[in-house]
Amino acid sequence: MTRLTVPIAADNFESATAQIKSAYEAEAEVLELRTDYLKDLSVELVIKLINEARNICKKKLPIIVTCRSRQQGGSNAWPDKLRIEVLVAAIKAGAEYIDFEYDSFTNLDNQEKLRVALSSTAKTRLILSAHDFDGPFDDIAKLYRHIVNTYSAAIPKLVYKADHINDCFYALDLLSRTSDDRIIFCMGEAGIITRIIAKKLGSYVTFASLADDTATAPGQLTIDVLKNVYRYDDIDKDTELYGVIGSPITHSLGPAVHNACFAKIKANKLYLPILLEGGKKEFDDFINNLMCRKALGFKAFSVTIPHKQNVLNYVRMRDGKIDPVADIIGAANTFIFGPDDRVSAYNTDCGGALEAIESAGTKNLNNVTAAVIGAGGVARALVAGLTAAGANVTIYNRTVKKAHRLADEFNCQYAGLDQLQNCDVKLLVNCTSVGMYPDIDATAVPLTCLKSGMLVFDTVYNPAETLLLKNAKAAGCKIISGLEMFINQAAEQFNLFTKQDPDTKLMRRILTETLQIL
Ligand code: NAP
Repeated sequence: MTRLTVPIAADNFESATAQIKSAYEAEAEVLELRTDYLKDLSVELVIKLINEARNICKKKLPIIVTCRSRQQGGSNAWPDKLRIEVLVAAIKAGAEYIDFEYDSFTNLDNQEKLRVALSSTAKTRLILSAHDFDGPFDDIAKLYRHIVNTYSAAIPKLVYKADHINDCFYALDLLSRTSDDRIIFCMGEAGIITRIIAKKLGSYVTFASLADDTATAPGQLTIDVLKNVYRYDDIDKDTELYGVIGSPITHSLGPAVHNACFAKIKANKLYLPILLEGGKKEFDDFINNLMCRKALGFKAFSVTIPHKQNVLNYVRMRDGKIDPVADIIGAANTFIFGPDDRVSAYNTDCGGALEAIESAGTKNLNNVTAAVIGAGGVARALVAGLTAAGANVTIYNRTVKKAHRLADEFNCQYAGLDQLQNCDVKLLVNCTSVGMYPDIDATAVPLTCLKSGMLVFDTVYNPAETLLLKNAKAAGCKIISGLEMFINQAAEQFNLFTKQDPDTKLMRRILTETLQIL
């Protein structure tokens, strides 16, 4: 059983008790009193805080008392003598756990004092912790053994910063291979997945903050996000894992949308944010790491910038299945682990975009004149789809060379962005990032080329109504928001993940709500 633990990190008694109330209301399962944050730290103050925490939580929540050393991430440089006095007092006051750094515990004087205090009660357990904020430990398994050998009744806690998603495997392997009470996860954005799946793998606790500004370590999610986006309460050892692979990934809408839809169909599936930095090598390493760790339960991914071609190359290298659309476009946004190590890649961007155009009433694209603005990944999907449907496409791009190359591949026209004002087309699609949050007052399209009756599609979905769409509406054009494409491509992915159609109304609601927060 994994206990959802909320650190109480305040510099005074009043703020600490306010945080305790909030943590209790937010359904924390354990409180960690980070006493190192207290400005006027004293034994008396800590005892008062423990008693107040018991009152507020009606004695229902176990308490960890921690007075972290500065070297291991503590907020103040309290001397070991005071830190030990605080922990000994916490033991006497009946705290369920105290947390002390393994490093400091190897000092025999410190060790003796804690051993004596712990031997006087069966109520308090010792968490012996090790943190590395610079990267993985040299040998995490050896460190784990040393901690266990030093004090066998301790709960070892090993936490390090994952500089890259591939660093997480040291922690995940140790967690998978051990079964005693232990706390193992990674810090940093790349390590977020280990905090979430800690519950699936049976870590003794995982931590979540009350708010971003009370997080006590990098990558700590809020309890609200952990519960409401990552379905914390539903995770168990059988939960199947999905996610979005990309870089950056912080503002990805995938987790909110897919997890809500998984919950709606009561699927024991979880969708994670996977920050995968680097290029082909790092991508291949990540997937290979998962190929030899099937027990982790990863089943499929959405794939975004910069890995849409890497995923295709990987599937080709493994002689897997590539759907014809992805093959033509030369990029995929969906990756699936099949039985017998068979992997497959799909592109749902193209279908999602064409479906959005069709839904707006343009069912037959044969000989329709179309301007595609941009020559990146999304433009590629649009150009492939539109030319296959028989449209007469001209690509406009800031870097004309890229427009030229794309036009040659799909046998269409091209021009620089400065030529846009002369364009006269039935369909105009913006595939650049211009107009995207936070630069919402920008558009790549001059007013002169927006004409009444034209269909204008902006693939940018944040905001849902861009300046381009506002201008187009005012000029009497029909408009399509990037949200429509997003929903269609996500719905097709959801179908590939679950063999079921998602509730697209729910998708739309979650997207709209999430975009308002971003
Ligand atoms: P990409 O491969 O990086 O391509 C970006 C394109 O935008 C390039 O053509 C680039 O021109 C152009 N561009 C960037 N900044 C510009 C500027 N200041 N002025 C003029 N042109 C500029 O990105 P992508 O994957 O194609 O994504 C493009 C946009 O599509 C994203 O920003 C996102 O909003 C949207 N999108 C929507 C969905 C959806 O489902 N609705 C899905 C994915 C993406 P150069 O070649 O000259 O650099």
